[in-house]
Amino acid sequence: MDLGVCTPAALRCSTVALTHAHADHVAGLWTYLSVRRLYGMAAPTLVVPKGMEEGIEAVIDDLGRLQTRPYDRQVVPVEVGGEVPVGRGLWLRSFPVVHRSPGTGWLVLRRTRRLREAFRDLPGAEIARLRAAGEEETLLETVEVPLVAVTGDTSAEVDLSRDPATLRARVLLIETTFWGDDQERGLQAAALGQHLHCSQLPEVLRGVEARALVIYHLSQVHTAEEVRRRLPQVLPPEWLDRTHLIEPLPEDRI
Ligand SMILES: [Zn+2]
Repeated sequence: MDLGVCTPAALRCSTVALTHAHADHVAGLWTYLSVRRLYGMAAPTLVVPKGMEEGIEAVIDDLGRLQTRPYDRQVVPVEVGGEVPVGRGLWLRSFPVVHRSPGTGWLVLRRTRRLREAFRDLPGAEIARLRAAGEEETLLETVEVPLVAVTGDTSAEVDLSRDPATLRARVLLIETTFWGDDQERGLQAAALGQHLHCSQLPEVLRGVEARALVIYHLSQVHTAEEVRRRLPQVLPPEWLDRTHLIEPLPEDRI
């Protein structure tokens, strides 16, 4: 998800989903495309929110032109609520968020096939016989397991219940940019940039069942220590032991 910087882990991913076009989410794209090509890796697939495909194709074309060698890639636009398969039974689904630059949240889900309730007590041989007789659709149902939801950037106007699978994701990564009280770091700053302020978390998290909550996208005006100190004041106690923080790397501070 996203390429604000191109990390070694990102480089190994042949499919990357972008949430929106702000620089801190896409600035690593050039490195990503170039280093993958340098190492002879497969042309990547970029999954983008619908509306962003033209811009991203144009940028990649321009970068290729600058180097007199075009970049091979596939850009796949997905509309809100739309899905794209990403292999090994995994799917990416777009869910709506609210941000100054149009974008999307992404939900990773797995689809598996299992025996319908009514057939669970049947002996194995009987199940095999029915399958051989072409009764697979009668026997099996598809279940959807939401694994990871990533908000990308969003304001508190986001309604995660718009896609109930998002509420059930095992892990939720949620942007929480601002943690202060003054004009530059408080609610006003969050509203201006359409980001989340920490005090808005309880409301946004209503109905979320995640086993792990990962807070990320801290503004550079905050230190991780400051955020860690404030967490118990803003999050309901039941969240605290399953909440994790992604801290910005010192070298990424500008
Ligand atoms: Zn943004």
